[in-house]
Amino acid sequence: MKIPDFLPSTPLGSLPAVAPQRSPLPLCAKQLAQCCTDKALSLLAQSDAVKLGALPLALISQSKKRLVSLAVCRDDLETKQALRFALGMEVQIIVVPEPTLQEAIFLAYNHQKNVDEQHEQVAATYLQTLLEDAFASEVSDVHLLPLKKSARIRFRVHGILKDYSKSECSKAFLQELINRVKVLAQLHYHDREQPQDGAFTLSLPHRECRIRVSTLPTVCGEKLVLRLPSRREYGDLHTLGLSSFTQEKLRRAVESSKGAILFCGSTGSGKTTTMYALIEPLLEKKHVLTIEDPVEYELAGATQVSVCEKQGKSFSALLRAALRQDPEVLVLGEMRDRDSATTALQAALTGHLVLSTVHARSVIEVFLRLKELGLEPLTLAQGITGIVGQQLIPRLCAKCRVIDLLSSKKVQHTIYQANGCQACGYSGYSGRFLVEESLFPDSDFRKGIIEGDLSLDGLSRKLREEIYRSMAQSLEQGLRAGMLDVKTVKMVLQ
Ligand SMILES: [Zn+2]
Repeated sequence: MKIPDFLPSTPLGSLPAVAPQRSPLPLCAKQLAQCCTDKALSLLAQSDAVKLGALPLALISQSKKRLVSLAVCRDDLETKQALRFALGMEVQIIVVPEPTLQEAIFLAYNHQKNVDEQHEQVAATYLQTLLEDAFASEVSDVHLLPLKKSARIRFRVHGILKDYSKSECSKAFLQELINRVKVLAQLHYHDREQPQDGAFTLSLPHRECRIRVSTLPTVCGEKLVLRLPSRREYGDLHTLGLSSFTQEKLRRAVESSKGAILFCGSTGSGKTTTMYALIEPLLEKKHVLTIEDPVEYELAGATQVSVCEKQGKSFSALLRAALRQDPEVLVLGEMRDRDSATTALQAALTGHLVLSTVHARSVIEVFLRLKELGLEPLTLAQGITGIVGQQLIPRLCAKCRVIDLLSSKKVQHTIYQANGCQACGYSGYSGRFLVEESLFPDSDFRKGIIEGDLSLDGLSRKLREEIYRSMAQSLEQGLRAGMLDVKTVKMVLQ
């Protein structure tokens, strides 16, 4: 898409070169209004122009002096002095009949407004197209980046930053786009000096989605990053890339309608995506209540609450209030403290299905982390029905991958390695692969927890095939399916 340039469209500064006229100029109001430059008009507000009976036409530099040419209807000393005083510079006047002048003032200032409105309209349309393009190409972030003299729009696709269009756009146009986003996200419109963040909902042809916005004042001007939810957000369970083992166990855990299913993994590892995919089928029949910090994606049919400590809406306060709202399914952003973790697991024990995330590096570590928060082994053993750890890693580009002969020979199976083509931007990778680790405690494992061996080694010893799938198994599957290469697998295992 071509980037429109908002260059001043009325460089009509030629008229003032005409010598000051004493008798009215034979110009109609429209012609006169067209003579005004944007810069000149910005010197005087419309109401002052009417009051003073003067229309600024152009700014002129004349032998080091700056003066402004104006159309007036009265040529006397008093008018000139009033104008000099109001504008703070020398004036040059052209006399026109009063009715022409008043009409010209109206036309000139309203033309200006129309141009602004047109610019706003163009920016709004452009932004919508830009974001639709972004969704279509699975963009995760859109950067609106001011440079010294121009600006760039960049997309992050599968972890790689690319330019949206080949040409740079004008800074004025970037500012129009930024203004538009700030209006949508209800940010302080005029404040360009403080970082701000917010969000807005965008309507797409088949759905609505929440886009997060953050601003940063840079040396070249205000920069914006728009964070897009991934297209997978509303995908169902089998499109996520989880193993059939984990999918099946998760389905059963959800069907039992009680207990806590916990997720761990780094930020951006798709935990929320999996949680949403799990609860989506429940939305029609059950009361789903989510408490998030903040709510990222809107789920039609769910009650969603955003944590806001500043307004006294702390996580644990909201959780207690939420439990009085008769929820059947609770989705909790993160179990961070003892209070919320205890309440959440109590809810899981008393007939609620609870989905939440815990900050931990592995599924076993989830138990240790919750123990550290002060939870009783009995609560952990009885409350937790499943834990899934996940991570998103680069997937080989299927269009250009090549056989890795050495590795294939070693394992007696076809293994691929990265190459590079136009489709993957010559990186050799396209899209992500979901690596998972999952644990679904059975009575044996629960007994182990209650008996008190809550250590990394103790719990690891109790992992068996029937209840556990390791990250190594997941990686091996990816490797054998030709979605991962040895280099990536080694990197993850390190
Ligand atoms: Zn490729």
